[in-house]
Amino acid sequence: MKYAFNLEWNELPEELREEKIRQFILDGEKRLCDECDGENIYCKTCKGLGQVDPDPDNLHEQEEAEEYIRIHFPIYF
Ligand SMILES: [Zn+2]
Repeated sequence: MKYAFNLEWNELPEELREEKIRQFILDGEKRLCDECDGENIYCKTCKGLGQVDPDPDNLHEQEEAEEYIRIHFPIYF
């Protein structure tokens, strides 16, 4: 068996990476609304709160999360 700590992020199976990215986003804090940047009280996306729940299906958030995890890997685990 390979010594797990020698693993690189990019060498992890894709499914595992996707799962980690998803979990990372879900564990994250609320985000500033992309639609109105929190400046429109009539915004339908955030209902005027200016903040939205993290969305693991959002490609941009996925990229951001992966970038963060990659930089901090394997400390993040
Ligand atoms: Zn909004």
